[in-house]
Amino acid sequence: MKLDYKKLWGDALAEIELNVSRANFITWFKNTSIVNDKNGIIYLSVPNIFVKEWLFTKYNKFILKAIHSIEPNIRSIEYLINAQKQEDESEKNKVAPMERGSINNEQLGFSDFNIDKEANLNPKYTFDSFVVGSFNEVAYAAALAVTKNIGTAYNPLFIYGGVGLGKTHLLQAIGNRIKTENKKANIFYTTSEKFANDFVFSMRNNSIPAFKEKYRKYDLLIVDDIQFFSGKLKIQEEFFHIFNSLYERNGQIIFSSDKPPKHLSGLEERLRSRCEGGMMVDIPKPEYESRLAILEAKVQENNFLIEKEILEYIALTVQENIRELEGSLNSIMGQNKIKGRDLSLAEVKEFIKKNSEPIKRVTMGQLIKIIADFYNINEKNLFEKTRRKEVVKPRQVAMYLLRQDLNTSYPYIGQKFGQRDHTTVIHAYKKIRDSIKKDDKLNEEIENIRLLLYGKSV
Ligand code: ADP
Ligand code: MG
Repeated sequence: MKLDYKKLWGDALAEIELNVSRANFITWFKNTSIVNDKNGIIYLSVPNIFVKEWLFTKYNKFILKAIHSIEPNIRSIEYLINAQKQEDESEKNKVAPMERGSINNEQLGFSDFNIDKEANLNPKYTFDSFVVGSFNEVAYAAALAVTKNIGTAYNPLFIYGGVGLGKTHLLQAIGNRIKTENKKANIFYTTSEKFANDFVFSMRNNSIPAFKEKYRKYDLLIVDDIQFFSGKLKIQEEFFHIFNSLYERNGQIIFSSDKPPKHLSGLEERLRSRCEGGMMVDIPKPEYESRLAILEAKVQENNFLIEKEILEYIALTVQENIRELEGSLNSIMGQNKIKGRDLSLAEVKEFIKKNSEPIKRVTMGQLIKIIADFYNINEKNLFEKTRRKEVVKPRQVAMYLLRQDLNTSYPYIGQKFGQRDHTTVIHAYKKIRDSIKKDDKLNEEIENIRLLLYGKSV
């Protein structure tokens, strides 16, 4: 007899949920599903290698027990990465993958796999999926105008606003639109950080001419988050030259930043005035009606049904930005899916309240314990004077988080970690701080540790 995978996994999850902390449950069990069974083996689809290893080492027995108690014939579990994509198309259309739960973990967003390598554009960011409300209509209109008059109407276009308000979405929508209308257009999306990394890399490899050549040939160059250019004068200078030669050839340039140019400290004057010479628009926070419209659009996009009063409640309470709005909605859709029924308004209220709690105070001891658990090492190993690889990274991560999140002083951290000098701690801190910008896996690890620590990402 064929097993009902959805029901079986739903029942098993219900059992598992009772026995693990909420943070763990959300971190490790979201986006999992049973995709097959054969000869007493259950094939479980998981979103990535990290979850696969974690579930296997930490929860395998537990999962097996939960399933076995429902289906006694099952004797083992195999973990497959992202198998449901192929196996279960219909399911995919019905429910939103919890790309960004309340646990806003962008790093786990799998739609990012579709990124167009050449232009570096993600096809999910389009004008069609961009909801226009009174808060962003000016930015939207400017963006649209650029697609109709590349290099002439507004050059450069400078879009600024706080995090999660749709800057990247809009920038990429412009790129995607121009690409569909003109296949030959030479388009490139990058962030100021990637640009800087590229630059440093070419400097080391003596390939600066090729670097310049590459950037100067674009018809449309999009540079996201240029606030990270602050203080990097050498890079700004290089960028300025590229900018000028593009500009002279009527190449379109688009920037985003969290602040208007005049408030960007450490931005070279020439670059600032160039930015100010184009079109500047800001995206402020959305007002209630727009928040509700965005929620409605996202529900529809996901082919989901959620009661209006619930959407109104979310729109009323989640005010900060669109990313959080999306995150709350995704969590609720995810909960409905896991529970196999719709949450009531009261449950939604409870859920949102829990998730918007201020960051929990965490002690040094708790942090150390979680990191040791996470990396599967003994707590006391963390304090030993050793250069063993299995210990060095967790120790650096611990130092980083103690400083970054708990604001512990460098000397105090040094003293706790076996009387180390505070410069060692500073070194560890910087090492991790810089690595997470480049190393997606490390970044994901830290996100997950934070989730375990605080019950949400920070
Ligand atoms: P920013 O770059 O300003 O930090 P993003 O562009 O990354 O913000 O937006 C955060 C999330 O919110 C993305 O998932 C994006 O698709 C979504 N989003 C932002 N603005 C809108 C909008 N107007 N309509 C629909 N979705 C939006
Ligand atoms: Mg962005």
